[in-house]
Amino acid sequence: MLKPSSFLKIGALSIALGSLVSAQAEPRDLSTWNGQEELARLGGELPEGVRCLSPEPDPSFVSPPLFATDAGSQADCMYRFTRPTTDYDSTVIYEIPVVFHIIEDNAGVGFVPYAQVLNQIDVFNEDFNALPGSNGAPGNDARIRFVLATVDPMGEPTTGVTYSRNSQWFNDGGQYWNTLAWDTNRYMNVYSNNGGGSGLLGYVPGLPQQGNVVGNAFDRVVVQWDTVGKDTPHGLPWDQGRIATHEVGHYLGLWHTFAGGCGIPGRCYRSGDYICDTSPESSPTNGCGVGKVSCGLPAPVSNYMDYTDDACLTDFTIEQNRRMRCTISQWRPLLARIIQPSTLVTDSSAVSLSAGGTVTLDLESSISMGSWFYVMLGSLTGTSPGVALGNGVVIPLTYDPYFQLMLSSPGSAPFKKARGFLDHNGRGRARFVVPPGSDPTLAGLQLYHAYIASPDAVTFTFASEAKGLLLMP
Ligand SMILES: [Zn+2]
Repeated sequence: MLKPSSFLKIGALSIALGSLVSAQAEPRDLSTWNGQEELARLGGELPEGVRCLSPEPDPSFVSPPLFATDAGSQADCMYRFTRPTTDYDSTVIYEIPVVFHIIEDNAGVGFVPYAQVLNQIDVFNEDFNALPGSNGAPGNDARIRFVLATVDPMGEPTTGVTYSRNSQWFNDGGQYWNTLAWDTNRYMNVYSNNGGGSGLLGYVPGLPQQGNVVGNAFDRVVVQWDTVGKDTPHGLPWDQGRIATHEVGHYLGLWHTFAGGCGIPGRCYRSGDYICDTSPESSPTNGCGVGKVSCGLPAPVSNYMDYTDDACLTDFTIEQNRRMRCTISQWRPLLARIIQPSTLVTDSSAVSLSAGGTVTLDLESSISMGSWFYVMLGSLTGTSPGVALGNGVVIPLTYDPYFQLMLSSPGSAPFKKARGFLDHNGRGRARFVVPPGSDPTLAGLQLYHAYIASPDAVTFTFASEAKGLLLMP
């Protein structure tokens, strides 16, 4: 919440924003609240510089009291408080089923092709998982995946996309969610329409932490139809599907980076956006915000929860990711499927000695092991018994001459990058290279590989699973 005294300093944009925030301090009746009526209440247009109607933190909202013993509970990610412990960096992947409701007007304006919806799911996965090689690659891996639902609430097969024609709904009027919503405990319901017009690009009606949101039909994400997916019909600057990424951030419990302006110094988990590793920000960023300084610090202009142009967004912070993971586990407990991920992924389980080839081994740990030192090891004998590392960690490879070779002289084994450093998300890639015309007498050998990792290159506290590789003639 911006203080009146600060309005004078930060210009017309924030005055407009401040009036919107004040207007929203009145509680919404979420069962009926929609963009069309909200826009009418605002005089038919959004205040200058506003594009998202998701709520701002209400300073009068009272959460239940917190106790230290509440760690690992809803108390870690409350409406106006975050305790983003490393517990939320667990390696578990959350997979969220999505149903996309495409709402067109009676003339068919607002049609979004199925391929474009798939495209938006790709953007979610790039942005929330910092997928290497994608626009989201520079970010931090939240280990949250999205899939279009394959089974509907009745248990029938589905494409995960519904199409409706209704001009009132297209203008975000009426209570379309009462007709269209799938169980909001178990599906993320995304609606595309024109958001009521007037430049509104998206919103969620309320955050899960408000209470009495999850499980109600109105629990939803709404986005402007022409911003869905990559290379959108909307065009610049909302052309890369990041409007929906931003709104899903709200859906998973995040506030705007500029919520609460500069916040209270030294109390960043209890003021502002309730996150400490997003720099405080007094006003939203328009354009790319290159070089923007706010509240005396570089502004978080590349953060998905700012208003920056799609092309210039790259990240959620580590603490935002923890707050989202807390929101999923504590406030949306029925939503996500929990996946225990592989820690070592290979693209082949066999390689030909005569033809040669390269097998890629992707090292997948977690962001809590970012920049750790790793050593790839192998065995010709098997995976059990493994080798104890001395602190309860066992690498699932049997000690033998191949193990010894990789341990003592990794350069002599047929590996590229048999040791090195994981990236900031705890990922790495090694390659096992077999030149064409390799010794045919090795055919039939079954190799196993795994890696160990260490924060200081001295004490190894992590061992991956093992993956086999068969040498073929
Ligand atoms: Zn927003």
